[in-house]
Amino acid sequence: MTCIDYISRLPEAGELPFPRTLVLLGATGSIGTSALAVIEAHPDKFRVLGLAGARNVERLARQAARHRPPFLAVLDEERAAALKSLLPAGYAPEILTGPAGYATIAALPAAQVVLSAMVGAAGLESTLAAVQAGKVVALANKESLVLAGDLIRAAARASGAVILPVDSEHNALFQAMAGHGSHALRRLILTASGGPFRDKDRAFLDAVTPAQALKHPNWSMGAKISIDSATLMNKGLEVIEACHLYGLPVEMVDVLVHPQSIVHSLAEFEDGSQLAHLGPPDMRIAIAYCLAHPHRLALDNATLSLASLGSLTFATPDVEKFPCLQLAMDAAAVMTASGSPTEHGHAAGNGACVVLNAANEVAVAAFLDGRCRFLDIARLVEAAVASWRRTGPFGPLDLQAILTLDADARALAARCLDLLPACLPTGMPE
Ligand code: NAD
Ligand code: MG
Repeated sequence: MTCIDYISRLPEAGELPFPRTLVLLGATGSIGTSALAVIEAHPDKFRVLGLAGARNVERLARQAARHRPPFLAVLDEERAAALKSLLPAGYAPEILTGPAGYATIAALPAAQVVLSAMVGAAGLESTLAAVQAGKVVALANKESLVLAGDLIRAAARASGAVILPVDSEHNALFQAMAGHGSHALRRLILTASGGPFRDKDRAFLDAVTPAQALKHPNWSMGAKISIDSATLMNKGLEVIEACHLYGLPVEMVDVLVHPQSIVHSLAEFEDGSQLAHLGPPDMRIAIAYCLAHPHRLALDNATLSLASLGSLTFATPDVEKFPCLQLAMDAAAVMTASGSPTEHGHAAGNGACVVLNAANEVAVAAFLDGRCRFLDIARLVEAAVASWRRTGPFGPLDLQAILTLDADARALAARCLDLLPACLPTGMPE
């Protein structure tokens, strides 16, 4: 019998009344703009207290002019000045900057719900700040759980924060598991579209361009997650995310390829039942479910017609063709080797996951810039994790150790990138 240690759970303090006060981290991105579309469709339900973006100050200025939040945050002082100059006369919000500014806006006392939707490891510290401040956190930034799931879990337990998963698969699972006892689960099944190259051979993959890889067949998303979806690293990161959200060993999390992206994931119970969540591939559904939880909001999306679709298909993922998925599952296996996490985190620690994520971020950025090939992404990640297996650090990591390891792994991946293709996949610098 497995004890599911949720960090995704219902608020204990009772339901938050409407209108709810929101802070959106990563407001200018794909998830952030979809969240604002939900909010704009339900203006009586939400008040925007803060918006954080990084570089796209024009978009942030437009969003801010519309919602007039008293707090904004951007990457640095230069962008803050640019943003200020774009705001309408008579509207003078406080503009915060950099990681400290993001952490401040994430923990504003008046914020009730914080959407964590920055991309990559950059989202970790603000997510942690929101969790430490006891917020309801609508979590899209899966990388923060990959890097620091144990710390986030411990912080949520201490503060009473609630984490509601925005990632469509985990949101589907949250819904499928609602109302079930914590003991009856056999496994979780994460569905994966298989990305744009599901049916292509290795020769094709070797020559893939960023433009091809950015074209996801079903979802419209930011650049980094689109590349992760093409390599299947996204599904690997989601396996790690599910282990943390639901307190499960990796053996209880399976991946199922489902090209139509209609079944968003399934929970299997001890009696053999599988409960699935179906819907059109539209992130507003999961976002709205988190922002309004436990209520559902009307959305103007098309009705899903299974009769028109005719058939839904499923297959086992090909981890030889898409090694990133296997690399991530191996990293999750290292982390969860000792079973479900304890009060103090996973005994084996998540160094492998930190390194996997860091090398992947470096490799994806390099691929998008034309500095490496598509198949080099997995090679770089493999080499970085292999290096970690020799040197560690092993065991639970605190925030400082995670940030140091993240920086070291990025430096290693960057060095490997400079040496491409000669040093890959075996002769990595120590
Ligand atoms: P995106 O690239 O469209 O947007 C990223 C946002 O993060 C932007 O607002 C950008 O300004 C901000 N940002 C970038 N670098 C930053 C930095 N250094 N500091 C602070 N902010 C920074 O990405 P997205 O597709 O919206 O994805 C956001 C997160 O949600 C990712 O973790 C992704 O894995 C997750 N997610 C996205 C989708 C989707 O459909 N897009 C689905 C599930 C999960
Ligand atoms: Mg997902």
